[in-house]
Amino acid sequence: MFCKECNGILDVIRIEEYPEGFKDIIGYKRLCDVQCLSCGNIYYSQPYDWGKSVNEVRNLNIAKKRRSNN
Ligand SMILES: [Zn+2]
Repeated sequence: MFCKECNGILDVIRIEEYPEGFKDIIGYKRLCDVQCLSCGNIYYSQPYDWGKSVNEVRNLNIAKKRRSNN
């Protein structure tokens, strides 16, 4: 992720914690706050676990195959 203002590198400064007693941590998508290392801009509630899930990638591939068969 890069800063929208100056294209600087964004550093994760805070990560959402899983809810207490939560079991399905693979399916849970956490948010994080990030700060630009260059200008100090802070972006709150950015996706942290987005795109890391194996299931999401698999689902995308299936959708593409179906589309090309039609
Ligand atoms: Zn910046």
